[in-house]
Amino acid sequence: METKTCSKCGVVKDVELFRKKKNQCKSCVTEYQRKYHRKHRRKYRQENKEELNKKKRKYYEENKEEINKKQRKYYEENKEEIRERHRKWRQEKAKEKLFIMLIKMMSLNKKDKK
Ligand SMILES: [Zn+2]
Repeated sequence: METKTCSKCGVVKDVELFRKKKNQCKSCVTEYQRKYHRKHRRKYRQENKEELNKKKRKYYEENKEEINKKQRKYYEENKEEIRERHRKWRQEKAKEKLFIMLIKMMSLNKKDKK
């Protein structure tokens, strides 16, 4: 087996895991591309926000029925799970509220003592 050392991660790997004439292994190249694309995409999104929103809206208008149908179908198929998620979310929110109330009450008590 022929091996090569990756110039990026420094791991010795089978040449099969390198692209021809490249000193970086495939996983490093893939990782790099992924990062690059992500960065690029974010920039693209920021620069074309208006345009993209318009497109999204247009797409929605044109496919409203289809989208609604899909959403309904998804809801029907995942009813239980969605309900459970909502229930948990509400519980968390309630806990948070209670906590905030408690803190407020405690700080009021402190003021009273002064
Ligand atoms: Zn590598």
